[in-house]
Amino acid sequence: MSTDPRLVLVLNSGSSSLKFAVHDTEHPVPLLSGLAERLGGENAAITFKEAEGKLVLPLETATHTAALDALLAALSHHGWLDRLAAVGHRVAHGGEYFTHSTLITPEIVNDIDACSALAPLHNPAAVLGIRMALTRLPNIPHAAVFDTAFHQTIKPEAYLYALPIALYREQRVRRYGFHGTSYRYVCREAVRLLGLDPADHGLVIAHLGNGASATAVQDGVSVDTSMGMTPLEGLVMGTRSGDVDPGALLHIMRICDYDVNQMDTLLNKRSGLLGLSDLSNDVRELEAAAERGHAGAQLALQVFVHRLARYIGGLAMSLRRLDAVVFTGGIGENSVRMRAMTVTRLRALGLVLDEASNAVTTGGTSGLINAAGSSAQIAVVPTNEEWMIVCDTAALAAQATALESA
Ligand code: AMP
Repeated sequence: MSTDPRLVLVLNSGSSSLKFAVHDTEHPVPLLSGLAERLGGENAAITFKEAEGKLVLPLETATHTAALDALLAALSHHGWLDRLAAVGHRVAHGGEYFTHSTLITPEIVNDIDACSALAPLHNPAAVLGIRMALTRLPNIPHAAVFDTAFHQTIKPEAYLYALPIALYREQRVRRYGFHGTSYRYVCREAVRLLGLDPADHGLVIAHLGNGASATAVQDGVSVDTSMGMTPLEGLVMGTRSGDVDPGALLHIMRICDYDVNQMDTLLNKRSGLLGLSDLSNDVRELEAAAERGHAGAQLALQVFVHRLARYIGGLAMSLRRLDAVVFTGGIGENSVRMRAMTVTRLRALGLVLDEASNAVTTGGTSGLINAAGSSAQIAVVPTNEEWMIVCDTAALAAQATALESA
């Protein structure tokens, strides 16, 4: 029998895509990763990325099942299929059902399906991916890892909206929060990097990517977060608006005669940095344009930073004490300029940046970027959500095996 480390397959099933990664359980860098795109449409294709390079193959049948079959054929080609020990599924919404990652059983699939009302765009696709993978790989454990689970520690005063309470009691309308897998990973790494007590610390972590949110973490648990029932609330994002006065939304519906679907597209696809700049959702492009004097790009970045600083300041008030502000996500890990603009706006909290450290902490490096006199530490910690899914899945699979052999 092989003594090579066992492998975990991570699947993230979207409505027209299937993202995947194959890890051995000892290394945070995947052996193979990739994406099947345009499933259900024209020109469906699957891209495999490995250390040696990238391979794009057309998919003759544009279905999730065909994509998984192509992936399993690639695993077989590498001789990895026999080493596959478990599958970890990323699931957007766990509602109030799921406070932790869990082994998948038929009842669990039904519970994930029951959360579809809260995430109609995401959960049905995850359920489809899980059912399909269970059919193709029935003899190994499957686990579900939820973007919302980490935030289930948030108290009612922070998760309730001031709406009639029946909407919470009967429809479960409340703040759930997202990016939980990222926060769990980054919190653990930050506590280690900053030499904090795992049982006594206060962090505000800003996960700034195409989707962006910020979370207050106290003693390892989430106490408040900027995203809400859906990933639309809070910060300015690539194409999502974040917070808008609900009264303004009603006004837009009336004056533009927009229906629910048009509002959905407006707020999720046409807003955020893209909407404000009228140029791009991509911070790198906006920074280059702002440098050239593009007024829309400059304005979009300023609104992003203003909102972010306001949230970081507000979230700090949900903590007992602010030990550190931590940046992560594509923007948080790489944009020297956005971090500098944000910390400048946090001077009322006594935060001071070290410009030289800020300038060199990019491209996947972690480190401290605060000056000596700063009231709290400021850190950059690259996230690795996928690795967290691998770790959870491997631990749950080991439990399942132990139970079976008990
Ligand atoms: P993510 O969704 O975490 O992959 O993050 C995507 C965002 O990170 C995009 O807005 C990118 O422009 C931004 N980003 C990635 N690299 C850089 C960089 N070197 N400088 C500024 N922004 C970056």
